[in-house]
Amino acid sequence: MDNILFTDTHAHIHDDEYGRQVEEFITLAKENNVFRCITIGIDYENSISAVENAKKHTGLYAAIGLHPEYADKYNKEADYERFYNLAKDEKVLAVGETGLDFYYENNPAKEKQVEVFEDMIDIACKLNKPIVIHSRNAAEETLQVLNNALKKYDNLKGIFHCFDGSMQVIDWVKEHNFYISYAGNVTFKNAENLRVALKNTPLNKLLIETDSPYLAPVPVRGKKNMPANVFYTGKFISEYVNISIDKLSKLLEENFTNLMGEQALWK
Ligand SMILES: [Zn+2]
Repeated sequence: MDNILFTDTHAHIHDDEYGRQVEEFITLAKENNVFRCITIGIDYENSISAVENAKKHTGLYAAIGLHPEYADKYNKEADYERFYNLAKDEKVLAVGETGLDFYYENNPAKEKQVEVFEDMIDIACKLNKPIVIHSRNAAEETLQVLNNALKKYDNLKGIFHCFDGSMQVIDWVKEHNFYISYAGNVTFKNAENLRVALKNTPLNKLLIETDSPYLAPVPVRGKKNMPANVFYTGKFISEYVNISIDKLSKLLEENFTNLMGEQALWK
């Protein structure tokens, strides 16, 4: 177990809705060989808090962005620059979460979501950082925005977070500097579609996450999630794709550092 090390690439621990503390999350994570975590901002104020928390802890990093469900809050004049400035911080590894979500009928209008998504991509590429994509019921449109962006930027890169199993996305990712992050739901009994997707995801494109506080994996399914539990998702995947957990952890670490560069190395 000594050389096993996992990263939770997506959690919301700086603003835990159950009042748990970041220190507590980090201690419990280390006990499960989880040594790195990105805590993800969902709007501007929330992103500031993510960065402030990341600055206090080695191995904790932030992503800053505006979640598509809050796209209506975005005022380009005022907001582009403050997101840009926040994203410069050395503990900010990525811009996000950002993307498109057409799941609920009363979500912000598609045009507004696309505007925010495009600006977040612009910020990320100007700073040469990856984006963290939230895409729900929107695979086609998400890829459209990304393909357009690729005409403008040659350094566009990122993570599809809490992957929903879209084969179209898997095929696209194979051709681009993008990774697919599986959350705890890949372990759920009814999630056969995610396991089919997993079988089709090249191992050099794979990442894992908890999306805490939601989606706790088996065997802690139904409990409040936390970064420590990404270990169980790693264990499940190693058994499912039939490689040792040591080997999987090395592979995931390689994928993560390939995407993030030196910035991710233990600040
Ligand atoms: Zn999230």
